[in-house]
Amino acid sequence: MKGTEQNLTVAVRIRPHNDQEKLLGAGTIAYEVENNMVVLLDPTEDPDDILRANRTREKRYVFDYAFGPNTTQAEVYEKTTKGLIENVINGYNATVFAYGATGAGKTYTMLGRDDNIGIMALALNDLFLEMERTKNHMVYKVKMSYLEIYNEMIRDLLDPSLGYLELREDAKGVQIANLSEVEASTTEEVMEKLTQGNAERTQEPTAANKTSSRSHAILQVTVRQTHRLPGNKKNIRCGKLFLIDLAGSERASNTHNRGKRMVEGAHINRSLLALGNCINALCDKNGSRYVNYRDSKLTRLLKDSLGGNCKTVMIAHTSPASLHFEESRNTLLYADRAKHI
Ligand code: ADP
Ligand code: MG
Repeated sequence: MKGTEQNLTVAVRIRPHNDQEKLLGAGTIAYEVENNMVVLLDPTEDPDDILRANRTREKRYVFDYAFGPNTTQAEVYEKTTKGLIENVINGYNATVFAYGATGAGKTYTMLGRDDNIGIMALALNDLFLEMERTKNHMVYKVKMSYLEIYNEMIRDLLDPSLGYLELREDAKGVQIANLSEVEASTTEEVMEKLTQGNAERTQEPTAANKTSSRSHAILQVTVRQTHRLPGNKKNIRCGKLFLIDLAGSERASNTHNRGKRMVEGAHINRSLLALGNCINALCDKNGSRYVNYRDSKLTRLLKDSLGGNCKTVMIAHTSPASLHFEESRNTLLYADRAKHI
């Protein structure tokens, strides 16, 4: 993690070319260079028109981290998320978002595969190790919930039979009524539950991509810590870690959507916009800006977890290929805007 005092970290991960991009011989237009810079080339500008090209073809963006196609899951985890574990154990909330268009690599980063696990399982793994290491003087309870927000409705991915769930705010903070919480203790168990849960996500075909994810998938990890103090006293802390695989950020118009798809697109745009606005407002050092959490379910759920002493990490994902220029540009602009006011 960069400077522990920093509350917002913005990273970009560029995945390798996929088979389709290779087959079409799609050129590389997004790549990382030294100093965590990402270069984006506009393929619509004529590279032979040198004078013009120099002015317009290349855009550079600087982030806290720029991860190229060869970056491992472990490296992404260690640089972005590992440092949050201590905060959560100490009773603070933290959130990691995977942002990007469908197919850009969000689920790969967050969930990964059985043989190459992502941030969700790596984070839980570290929590288990920490529990083991300190078990003589601490008692931890680590519980996980896995849910989706689809069209502003909340579903439990670990137990979809519960139907739509309600978001409530009371003295204890923001809660989802009746959401199931499970205790897991090994990485295998966690991956099994997450993979099962992921299969329950609302994924319906659109013109752009057959497995387009139209929902935000949210892993909520709650760590309750009880410290054994002398004289039989107890000190209790509770921290929450949210690991979020956001819905595809491509615009509704890109996928020629009508009817139901258009409504989904509008909900997704609205919640991603609300999220961006909240993150922007949090960066405002004067704290003078009004943060409107009420604009979407996603930001309402995260009300206690953005700002204050909470850490926020945004990992924006892009394809390297020219086919996806528009999406990559929009993603880089969104990530860039998160850092600036
Ligand atoms: P998204 O969740 O953003 O729609 P996925 O994570 O499903 O995208 O990625 C699309 C495809 O690309 C998947 O087959 C995935 O395994 C592959 N992929 C994504 N990122 C990487 C990466 N960094 N390295 C290797 N393969 C990747
Ligand atoms: Mg996905």
